[in-house]
Amino acid sequence: MGRHPRRLVLPRLRGARQARLRAAHLGGVGVRIEVDRDRCEGLGMCEAMAHEFFEVDDDEVMHVLDETPDERHRGQVHAAVQACPVLALTLTG
Ligand code: SF4
Repeated sequence: MGRHPRRLVLPRLRGARQARLRAAHLGGVGVRIEVDRDRCEGLGMCEAMAHEFFEVDDDEVMHVLDETPDERHRGQVHAAVQACPVLALTLTG
């Protein structure tokens, strides 16, 4: 009496729904890579650690290939950010 009937939510569906809500809360972005262009010297450590996300061109200009990698790449991108010797990279989110 006075209680809502319990709804059966399977754990996997609950997890998927929570992931959707979390993604919506974060604007659909898991991680964001930011570059301090004044610091970056095009040394390429980030590319060596995560070439899917960083690329240094022939002029030693680094390009972020995907600024908003999804959550499953967080560890790899974090390692690349940590590898930058001049602290030019920041990870947010
Ligand atoms: S490791 Fe740092 S300095 Fe080197 S290209 Fe990447 S961001 Fe630039």
